[in-house]
Amino acid sequence: MDVKDHLEFFDANIPCLAACPVHTNAGLYVAAIADGDDESAYLAARLPNPFASVCARVCAAPCEDACRRGTLDEPIAIRALKRFVTEQYGVEAGDSSLASTIAQPPETERSESIGIIGGGPCGLSAAHDLRKHGYKVTIYEATDRLGGMMVMGIPEYRLPRDLISKEIDSIISMGVEVRLETKLGADVTLDELDERHDALLLSIGASLGRGLDLEGYESDGVLRAIEYLININSGYTIDVGDKVVVIGGGDVAMDAARTALRTDAYEAQATEDMTERSAMTAALDAARTAVRSGARQVTVVSLESETEMPADHFEIEEAMREDIRFIHRRGPKRIVSEGGTVVGLETVGVQSVFDDTGRFAPVFDSGDVSTLDADTVILAVGQAVDVASVESDGLAITTRKTIEVGPNSLATTMPMVWAGGDAAHGPRSLIDAIADGRKAATEIHEAFGGVAAEQPKGQMVKLQQFHRFEDRYDVIARIDVPTISSDRRMGLTMVETGFTPEQARCEAQRCLRCFANILLDADKGVLCGLCVDVCPVDVISILPSEEVNPGRLNATALVLDEKSCIRCALCIERCPT
Ligand SMILES: Cc1cc2nc3c(=O)[nH]c(=O)nc-3n(C[C@H](O)[C@H](O)[C@H](O)COP(=O)(O)OP(=O)(O)OC[C@H]3O[C@@H](n4cnc5c(N)ncnc54)[C@H](O)[C@@H]3O)c2cc1C
Ligand code: SF4
Ligand code: SF4
Repeated sequence: MDVKDHLEFFDANIPCLAACPVHTNAGLYVAAIADGDDESAYLAARLPNPFASVCARVCAAPCEDACRRGTLDEPIAIRALKRFVTEQYGVEAGDSSLASTIAQPPETERSESIGIIGGGPCGLSAAHDLRKHGYKVTIYEATDRLGGMMVMGIPEYRLPRDLISKEIDSIISMGVEVRLETKLGADVTLDELDERHDALLLSIGASLGRGLDLEGYESDGVLRAIEYLININSGYTIDVGDKVVVIGGGDVAMDAARTALRTDAYEAQATEDMTERSAMTAALDAARTAVRSGARQVTVVSLESETEMPADHFEIEEAMREDIRFIHRRGPKRIVSEGGTVVGLETVGVQSVFDDTGRFAPVFDSGDVSTLDADTVILAVGQAVDVASVESDGLAITTRKTIEVGPNSLATTMPMVWAGGDAAHGPRSLIDAIADGRKAATEIHEAFGGVAAEQPKGQMVKLQQFHRFEDRYDVIARIDVPTISSDRRMGLTMVETGFTPEQARCEAQRCLRCFANILLDADKGVLCGLCVDVCPVDVISILPSEEVNPGRLNATALVLDEKSCIRCALCIERCPT
């Protein structure tokens, strides 16, 4: 068997790597931290991700959701461990930073010029990779700053602005031209840019707030979360009064809720996890920002129960520690106003949110109506793409009002025009946008005859040939990400703090090192059973094949339980073939 033919299997068998949209081999850097090799750990985290330092603070961390250790107790704190190494070697590390050794200008320049419209994480990540390939790159950004939702949406107490600036500067210093305050659709048209460049990438995000078809919606004191956060992050002051109510839930959830309220019946439909989760993130950010703006009582109203809420549990717990109140299982019925100004929100009880098959199908109790007092009602009910700004004859827009792209190519319906990030898929996460930027850069490079280099696999860390897990690795409990106490959470102070070296090493030792795959080669096996015999944790079994695959009779299966394997490699040492 040629191992190269099975790389896909190996990748899929490393849950953290398979779940990461840019395929960061997280286990590799976690293990490097456990072994005390923080420099290699940083390189393993930074190579696939030009925003390693930003992601170390606020990544949605799909790798942690997938982490195999979570099947034993709790997942590895992968994101916090990444922060531990970016603090030593990332853009924030000053003289010891290794970031510029990766964000290098190309050795050979190419003649083709690429226009990128939108300077958020998608556009900037594409610029990083396209410069590496040698293209001339110009970013057109509508506002006076680069960064997109990293600077306009995510609050500063979660993501420091000087850190974002440093990570963006390291990309721009590769030789990227930037035109700020140049809005597609207002200052320049798509057809003009198409003429000016050899290829285009549309990465304009989804920065329009969605409204809600609700009585009283036009009253003074009703704000959309995204616009509220953009204004606060741009330095404006907004007086929200003493009592703030935030209606949290994605567009699908809210559309469903409105329809069900009107008809008492709602046809079940699938919610898109990332879109719903992104709206709830905005709801929590708006609520926590309102607390910091001086509101005395902030309440988040959600259709879901606490366990059903599509949000990061760490963020929910932090919001609770900041005295934000949650009212679950209630839907918005009407905004109550007096003289055109908000005074409250009428809500209706929710009996259930999902049907028996797990599909989203809220059922309301129309007899259970109550009113919350409010000076301001903030709607965090999803974001929309400003599709009017990209209007052009050849560019197709989907029914969801996103830019239509090929499923695997990110190519739009216009020749040599690609689209990615929230603009192409609706609101998702930073790492999805970064992955799209990198994918679009590869597609553009290939369209010009280039061959994108394969992402290096498993080359950064030298593990001992037969490494040993720490004693008691299986009972060490997850170390929670350290935060400052709630009474010190004023203004822009960062809430999360980093791991100490002792905490980082201890947490990293919990990793099951799923990247160290043990290959049981069926072609070479002689079924001697020596591996079964030598395995100290009894995780290899020889079984009749029908026990593993009921359709396969009269054969033998050699099975290894990856969850319990301690990667000692004694089986390899003992194997006679
Ligand atoms: C409040 C909030 C909190 C979030 N928190 C997190 C989090 O903790 N973790 C996480 O992973 N994700 C989070 N997200 C989601 C994440 O920020 C986005 O998914 C990501 O930024 C999308 O990247 P993008 O490049 O596609 O778009 P954007 O970041 O939106 O960038 C688009 C850029 O295009 C510019 N632009 C728009 N229209 C035009 C035009 N016509 N011409 C020129 N330029 C234009 C915009 O000004 C912007 O700079 C959050 C989002 C919000 C709103
Ligand atoms: S245990 Fe380690 S290698 Fe396995 S999925 Fe979790 S972080 Fe990755
Ligand atoms: S590597 Fe060690 S623990 Fe894993 S299957 Fe082989 S002998 Fe057993």
